[in-house]
Amino acid sequence: MNFDGININNELKSRIESAAAAGKLPHAVILEGGSENDRLNLARLLAKAQVCSGESIPCCSCNDCIKAEKGIHPDIFQALAQEGSTEPLKVDAIRDIRANAFVYPNEAQRRVFILHNMQFANEQAQNALLKILEEPPEFVRFILTAPVSSVMLTTILSRAAVFSLGQQLGDTLNAKHTQACEKAAAIAKALISPNEFDLMTETGIFEKDAELLVLVLAQLRLIFRDAIARKQSQAATLLSSSQDNAVLLSRSCTVPQLMALMQAVDALEKAENQNANKALLITRFCSMMRKAVNK
Ligand SMILES: [Zn+2]
Repeated sequence: MNFDGININNELKSRIESAAAAGKLPHAVILEGGSENDRLNLARLLAKAQVCSGESIPCCSCNDCIKAEKGIHPDIFQALAQEGSTEPLKVDAIRDIRANAFVYPNEAQRRVFILHNMQFANEQAQNALLKILEEPPEFVRFILTAPVSSVMLTTILSRAAVFSLGQQLGDTLNAKHTQACEKAAAIAKALISPNEFDLMTETGIFEKDAELLVLVLAQLRLIFRDAIARKQSQAATLLSSSQDNAVLLSRSCTVPQLMALMQAVDALEKAENQNANKALLITRFCSMMRKAVNK
């Protein structure tokens, strides 16, 4: 496979190459990290591999590869929300994709949908996408990209393989992401701390930083999801950035408590979307979380 023009680590490279050689590229892939170009170029390379009809995949010489290379393959669809664009990936665009996904491929064995910059897809659009990810036609493949996969709903994350291109230094979004991961880990820890003030101490910052709250809620959702998954199976694949704390939570909480924590995250996200009063929101955050774990 030719990864020219893509900054990609050797581990991910060989993972992709062996999956492609075995004909086992995942049905849905999320590409995160790296630069925007790295993600888009890798998405296009994977799409080419999915439609290639040659021997070694992608062969770069079959008709499918040639058309994919030129960007004119009829079975590769690209929904590209440009970075900095005010036009998000709208729910209508996703509905079009859904309608399109049930049409048989024109030339290749598969139809590939590239959804670039999923951070611009709001919850409504992501839920629309989820409907097809749940029961996709056999011939459909999805390649989603985002700076960080945590911008996507857990329900989407749980149905896709995440390929991480690694952190980009100097990227403010990644700095914020790291801060959110650390904060979510601290909150998860505070939830099982015997000191009830720990939670209040950790959440004070949200009053001044609503953007951080949104990112932290997304991280907490992953941690709670992991804790539930771990309760169900020791072998569960964990997705969150704070797997240690997810395991601790799974040990000290019941499944209904963890579900209540998930519901608290949903309710708070909704309230945040509706521009609720920040101070009240934080009080609510603490009380909902405490109530979920019976504190
Ligand atoms: Zn080919």
